[in-house]
Amino acid sequence: MRTPDTQDGASAVLDDVRHGREVFWRNPRRRPAAEVLPQLAVGRADLDAAAARFARWAPLLAAHVAELAPTGGAITSPLLRHADGWIKADHALPLAGSVKARGGFHAVLCEAERVAVAEGLCASPETPPEAIHAGRLARTLAAHTLSVGSTGNLGMSIGLLGRALGFRVQVHMSADAKPWKKAMLRARGVVVVEHGTDYADACAVARAEAAGVERTHFIDDENSIDLFLGYAVAGRELATQCREAGIRVGARGPLIVYLPCGVGGAPGGITFGLRHALGDAVVCCFVEPTEAPCMLAGLATGRHDGVSVYELGLTLRTEADGLAVPRASRVVGRLVEGLVDACCTVRDEALYAALAELHDDAELRVEPSAAAGWAACLRHGAALAELCDAGATPQPVVWTTGGRNVPDDEFATMLSQGRRARIESARAMP
Ligand SMILES: *Cc1c(COP(=O)(O)O)cnc(C)c1O
Repeated sequence: MRTPDTQDGASAVLDDVRHGREVFWRNPRRRPAAEVLPQLAVGRADLDAAAARFARWAPLLAAHVAELAPTGGAITSPLLRHADGWIKADHALPLAGSVKARGGFHAVLCEAERVAVAEGLCASPETPPEAIHAGRLARTLAAHTLSVGSTGNLGMSIGLLGRALGFRVQVHMSADAKPWKKAMLRARGVVVVEHGTDYADACAVARAEAAGVERTHFIDDENSIDLFLGYAVAGRELATQCREAGIRVGARGPLIVYLPCGVGGAPGGITFGLRHALGDAVVCCFVEPTEAPCMLAGLATGRHDGVSVYELGLTLRTEADGLAVPRASRVVGRLVEGLVDACCTVRDEALYAALAELHDDAELRVEPSAAAGWAACLRHGAALAELCDAGATPQPVVWTTGGRNVPDDEFATMLSQGRRARIESARAMP
């Protein structure tokens, strides 16, 4: 096996990664927001445009997508009190049932605007969508296909919103995707193509098949700024919610935000949005399964999408289907390498125990991927607190990223596994 090049003394951590141990890695290239943000290829104007796009589409979404009516078409989740901190409850996001509602819906809206302009329905992408006759928009979109590779949740997001607007949708599912997610999509008229291979392979096939095909739009999770900016809007949302809840965020009370990470779009976009909104008063930690730490590997080696978890001798085997990704996004690692404070990993047993705790102690229903933040808060919280100024009182925010659409019987099985893991881990305590 080839040894990845290492930088900044990351080799000890990578050695633990190779052995499947839980690790905490502090990012030595993290710099102050004021230094990093102006140098990035995306900026505040892009963030403003993404927020404006969601606002522009909200009336049409509220009118035509039943699941989005209660929020007036807004894609937002509550901030809940939990233990000594907070939970940002994206597991409850409508329709998609996961954080992918943010990035995925934004990407679908971007495609819908491009089609509307290209097909002459409106002169500018900024035309309010309700100014276009809804039936005409749906008929036009019905001649266009969205294609995407997914481990499950991105397909749910693109599939459910894409179909609701009238698009045809094809989802290429990796072997990790749960059968109930495929069934739910098929019931909504999405074409699901099943692959026996991993996420990177499913994406590669989808990308190749869509290339050059007229009226087919491939949504490229491994390279997408549309997805990234959709997630980024959540950073602003959290800052607003903190203000409204009277949570004082600053050097003396920094937020420590725990973000489950797959290709990096969701945690990366949210980190970007948070740094814009809260500057250096927020510590962002990406959380990955011990068998799938692609972002940690990419950042610690400086090789980004050039290193895969297989190269580290890992299997990619994890029940956290949303995080089962062998390589990080090509664009995200480079965008966030100066912004993210730390990466850490947690074992599947810890994910399950965290899932059971969130259910039994807080009445939340999350899927294994989405429990990663709470597992990391318990295991790595002390290491993260050390990144804050002496005398500061850190305020943890655990981002729960999916679970709303999990069927009852599936959840019951995961919950009993989680309760067993919780008992085992209590026994293992000294
Ligand atoms: C996709 C996903 C993530 C991570 O998002 P990436 O953009 O792949 O990093 C986290 N949690 C859940 C539940 C997801 O579906």
